[in-house]
Amino acid sequence: MATPTPDPDSREAKAARIAANPASYKVCEGCDSIVGSGVVLCPNCHSYRFDATPESVRRQALALGSREQTSVTAGDLS
Ligand SMILES: [Zn+2]
Repeated sequence: MATPTPDPDSREAKAARIAANPASYKVCEGCDSIVGSGVVLCPNCHSYRFDATPESVRRQALALGSREQTSVTAGDLS
């Protein structure tokens, strides 16, 4: 059987990258999505208000990454 290899483009992998380097990202205050620190307008909701606090970015990244992981883990444990 195939070993589940982490996809570098998966939500979880992206979350890990963001959490490791929160200074390069910020969280949109309009829709809670994570964008690059150089983005002026959110591509999702066109908000221009962002939370660039590293702690906020890391927490949001982990929240997004664990959302997908939770469903997989729940199935594995039963
Ligand atoms: Zn947004």
